[in-house]
Amino acid sequence: MSKCSNCGAEFEGGYCPDCGTPAPAPQPYTPPPVYNNISVNNTEVTTTGGWFGWQLLEAFLGIFGLIIMLCASRDESVKNYAKAKFIWAIIGLVIVILFFALGIFAGISSEM
Ligand SMILES: [Zn+2]
Repeated sequence: MSKCSNCGAEFEGGYCPDCGTPAPAPQPYTPPPVYNNISVNNTEVTTTGGWFGWQLLEAFLGIFGLIIMLCASRDESVKNYAKAKFIWAIIGLVIVILFFALGIFAGISSEM
């Protein structure tokens, strides 16, 4: 429905049936304003099933599962969980290496 700019009659189509004035050009479409907070809320919430999947991946692939988790997840809480578990894995690895090294050292020194 457009309104004639000459006589004010409302009509459908390209020309006014009353006076023949061409219909005004359609208004250019203006997209609704995009608010910045939309991008902030763009992260996905991980469901119980999602967490089940991530923990299954972690159980099977261990540290590699955590790396996949860190790279693939769009949920910040999953990333933080993976980071925390990754730190624990490194701490665990360091302790194991330390005890292993101490064991070798103790073994060498007892042989002497
Ligand atoms: Zn008209």
